[in-house]
This record gives sequence, C-alpha cells and structure tokens, in this order.
Amino acid sequence: MNCEHARPLVPLYVDGELTSVQSAELRPHLLSCPACRSLAQGEQSIHAWFVPTAEIPVPVGFAAHVARRAVAGDTGSARPSVPLEPSVHEHSEPIMQFVLHALAVAAIALVVISISMRRLDQPAAEELKAHESQALDASLFALDQINREELRAAKTFGSTGAREGSSGR
Ligand SMILES: [Zn+2]
Repeated sequence: MNCEHARPLVPLYVDGELTSVQSAELRPHLLSCPACRSLAQGEQSIHAWFVPTAEIPVPVGFAAHVARRAVAGDTGSARPSVPLEPSVHEHSEPIMQFVLHALAVAAIALVVISISMRRLDQPAAEELKAHESQALDASLFALDQINREELRAAKTFGSTGAREGSSGR
C-alpha cells in the first residue's frame, strides 16, 4: 500500500469503520510511513474532543425547580437564604456575579413581559392576580410534565430492558 491509497482510509481506520482486512493492510503502512502515521495521530486527537460522556439523569422537576428559583431572584449562590456579602463576592468573582445577576434579571424580565402581555387582555385587577399565578403555575406544571415525560422516555428506551414488566412502575 502507498500513501495515495492509505490517506483516504486513515479517518475510517481511526473511526473503526474499516474491515479487519482493510485495517490489516493499512497498519503496516502506518508503521512504516511517518506522514500517514501523523495523519492518523491527528485524527485521533480530534477524536478525543468528541468522546461521548455518560448520560446524566435529570431529576424529576428539575426545570420547574430552576424556573421557580430564578423567579424568586436566586442568583445561583449555594445558600440563597443568607444575604450575600457584596465585598467578599465582588473581590472574588465579579464577572460571575454579574452574569448570574444578569441571568436572574433576564428570567424575571421574561416573566414580567409574559404577564404584562396578558394584562392587555385582562384589565380587571383581582382577576389579573389570579391569572398571573395561574400562568406561572401552569408553566411550572408544564415544565414538570416535560421532565416527567423525558424521564419516562429515557426509561422506556433505556438499557434496562424492562419494557413489558409491571405496568406503571
Ligand atoms: Zn504514507
């Protein structure tokens, strides 16, 4: 085998898409040819960027939980009940603080915008309050629903193989 034949096979070889016969033909050339070998090594290092990670299960209600806390003005600190000490945080990670605050503000702004858009349709004040909380509850409920369905789908198509077992659980 020469370089002309070897070169197009190298990416396939790294991807494991060559037959064992093709691999066996290519391997001696890679050993003897520095140019093709470095090509293979380059392909391999690109590969390292795309290693699939293990799937991380999302807890039920995660999206709703995040949305709830964002609406409550949580900036992502570990202890939201304790007031932040600005001096400490501004010295340690001012940019991160800014980003978190900006995200919280953006989340709140979205809610406010969606509520004020409803306000155009529903001018009555008491009715409005009810509608606001209903709208929020509805969206949180929807998020919970989505989470639950995703979890169920993950279980159904997962590798557990318990597709036709006891119904429900
Ligand atoms: Zn070569």
